[in-house]
Amino acid sequence: MRRILIGIAAALVLLVAVVVGRTLMVPAYKPVPARAVSAFDANTVAQHLADAVKFRTISWQEGAPAEDVAASAAAFVAFRDWIETTYPNVAKTLTREIVSGHSVLMTWKGADAALKPILLMSHMDVVPVVAGTEKNWTHDAFEGVIADGHIWGRGTLDTKQGIIGMLEAAELLISKGFQPKRTIMFAFGHDEEIGGTNGNAKIAALLAERKVELEFVNDEGGMIANGALPGVEAPIALVGVAEKGGITLELTAKAAGGHSSAPPAVAETAIGRLAHAIEKLGDEPPFESGLDETSRATVWAWRRRPASSAA
Ligand SMILES: [Zn+2]
Repeated sequence: MRRILIGIAAALVLLVAVVVGRTLMVPAYKPVPARAVSAFDANTVAQHLADAVKFRTISWQEGAPAEDVAASAAAFVAFRDWIETTYPNVAKTLTREIVSGHSVLMTWKGADAALKPILLMSHMDVVPVVAGTEKNWTHDAFEGVIADGHIWGRGTLDTKQGIIGMLEAAELLISKGFQPKRTIMFAFGHDEEIGGTNGNAKIAALLAERKVELEFVNDEGGMIANGALPGVEAPIALVGVAEKGGITLELTAKAAGGHSSAPPAVAETAIGRLAHAIEKLGDEPPFESGLDETSRATVWAWRRRPASSAA
């Protein structure tokens, strides 16, 4: 009996040691102090984003009516013209290239040509509003309304805010005489919502052709979100460091012909076979889900924050 008790006590001590050890290994959460951005006029910046929303830069799926596609094409031209007039310092300092019709590549030359450039991306296109659902919007998707402390509309989060953020920062910095040490490129694609093959993929090919090697690329990711992580009430800037994969499969099923007077069993029909295959795919998805190291660290970071921190 005594030996059992000693054994249990030893096991408990070991368990506590492991728990304490593992807990100490997790880096503590350190809130980043907010920095004043008094150089920006928040209302002006908000109005710029609201104005950007008004451009109906919609990506249409293949087979959309020609007049919708033409309207979008005009909106892309109007939007890039608007950028030129709204951000005059950017317009005169950065070189602008129009790639593949409507995508925009801007280059802000750095002082040190030996340094690899960085590329900051944000797409100009937005998804359409499904016909018949307009009335479900509190404010029209393309009106660019500012109300109740919010900017409303398509593209406010996905992702004209990225474009406006970069341009506002560049405009302000240039006005203060700033030149980056490292060349900074902006890539504003025009078809991200339908795959990006005609937009940023073409910019990528162009940069590869020019043998441009980048130090890093930053694209659309998270946002400053309220209540996104359970237990954290303060707004959190979510930096996306991992990306989910996607897959498109085309399934073909064949079956023997016949007559409806003598129908085969459902499982023998082409539709039945397809349904079976789809069900099997659902049961055994081609990808395993899971968290990689960085995603897991994010979850640990917010769980381990001190109770007093509010940032
Ligand atoms: Zn997006």
